[in-house]
Amino acid sequence: MTDSEQFDVVVVGAGFAGLTAARNLKDKGITAVVLESRDRLGGRTWYRKFADTDQLIEMGGNWLTMNYQPLMQAELDRYDIPIELSPEMAASEWLINGKRTRGFPVPLDEIKSLEKAVLHCVRAADRIDPYAPLDTQGLEDLDVSWDEFFAPLDLPRATWDFLSMFPVFYAARDTASMSALMLLQQLALVGNSPWSFFAIGHHRFTHGTKSMIDAIAGDCADVRLNTHVASVTQDDDGVEVTTSEGDVLRARCVIWTTPLNCWNDVTFTPALSQGKQDAAAGAHSSDMTVKFWALVEKNDVDAVMAGPSTNRGLAVLSREYDVEGSALKVGFSCDPTAFDFNSVEGTDAAVEALTPGAHVIKSDWHDWNTDVLAKGSWFGARPGMLSTTHSELSRPEGRILFASSDIAVSFMGWMEGALETAHKASADAVALLGSRP
Ligand SMILES: Cc1cc2nc3c(=O)[nH]c(=O)nc-3n(C[C@H](O)[C@H](O)[C@H](O)COP(=O)(O)OP(=O)(O)OC[C@H]3O[C@@H](n4cnc5c(N)ncnc54)[C@H](O)[C@@H]3O)c2cc1C
Repeated sequence: MTDSEQFDVVVVGAGFAGLTAARNLKDKGITAVVLESRDRLGGRTWYRKFADTDQLIEMGGNWLTMNYQPLMQAELDRYDIPIELSPEMAASEWLINGKRTRGFPVPLDEIKSLEKAVLHCVRAADRIDPYAPLDTQGLEDLDVSWDEFFAPLDLPRATWDFLSMFPVFYAARDTASMSALMLLQQLALVGNSPWSFFAIGHHRFTHGTKSMIDAIAGDCADVRLNTHVASVTQDDDGVEVTTSEGDVLRARCVIWTTPLNCWNDVTFTPALSQGKQDAAAGAHSSDMTVKFWALVEKNDVDAVMAGPSTNRGLAVLSREYDVEGSALKVGFSCDPTAFDFNSVEGTDAAVEALTPGAHVIKSDWHDWNTDVLAKGSWFGARPGMLSTTHSELSRPEGRILFASSDIAVSFMGWMEGALETAHKASADAVALLGSRP
């Protein structure tokens, strides 16, 4: 056997899940090492400068849903980290069913249909316990596409276009590939309040996600960057983790926190369960997301929200900061091929589609879809997945415990979900280590 270092626990991945799990273990006096492939902490959160300016922005995870995310609140309190509200969108426009409006998103003669649709969601969400796995609650009939969920209502065009924005907002998926069950669970998580669901996630870290990532990492004993894990082998005695450089680390257990879409890129011996392999192969995390930033010459529109019937995957463009006398706006799309987001010209065309006459000065984005250590953005379930495999995603396999926002029970896809799974995996590790000297 190769010479190897010995630890109680090896944690793989230094995003919110991995760092929190390692910090929890250190709190319990357990020796853990964190191995991270990137040259930075934070994973799918990344607070860095916009283009060639000094303005810091979030390339990945950004907003919090205060009042409903107690685990994040506990971390904010522990480290005394400030948060703030994103700017109020005083001048907002809708682009629904080809029409640009302000005020109410659908024409008044469609209000009854909109109410019927909202009631349909509230009744369905009322059946969901958002703190229990979704495959244990008899919810198969809700685990259909957003299209299928609303089909019985035969909704008029503007109402449907408005409702079709939500899969893009919440999971950067289109209506055909988004599980209604996942969105309905999000509604249940905010007290089944349609308004809270609509207004979800308006707080941001004053000094970026990095402020919390650095604080948690500061309480971890040993974090190693530029260390890519290539294989994991376990037997009754322990686990052997081998890096792509050939270094071997032995531990009594591993906490695995890489994105679900990357699980099949590593050799596990014995192999992971078929359920986990299939979930990873299905690219269930959203792998078509565009989050782009554009410095736009000031105009009188703070935000535009667009239904998919009009705008080639673009769902929203909103002002987040004022920079150099211009507005720095963030936009989301579920179609990375619709515009060339690598160029100012391509981004200008996207912005022009939402706000005619607007002029993009600079633009920036990170392509999470082609990033091999993410292979997508945040989790968005496809129809039929959660009602069949939700529990399986986070089920420990021998000495390998799993944590990631992609496999959370509640707040899947959110930083809050990463914290939830980190607490569970670190508690399981403590129990596992306590069971045998
Ligand atoms: C564009 C975008 C917008 C988002 N917006 C929000 C938002 O507004 N609010 C919100 O709450 N969430 C948001 N999210 C989601 C949130 O950022 C993530 O869900 C969360 O940060 C994931 O944390 P994690 O620790 O589970 O995974 P990750 O952050 O992905 O951490 C996993 C780590 O594992 C590393 N890794 C992968 N493979 C290996 C390997 N073989 N060896 C070693 N290391 C490896 C990766 O480099 C990574 O650092 C967004 C995400 C994106 C991309």
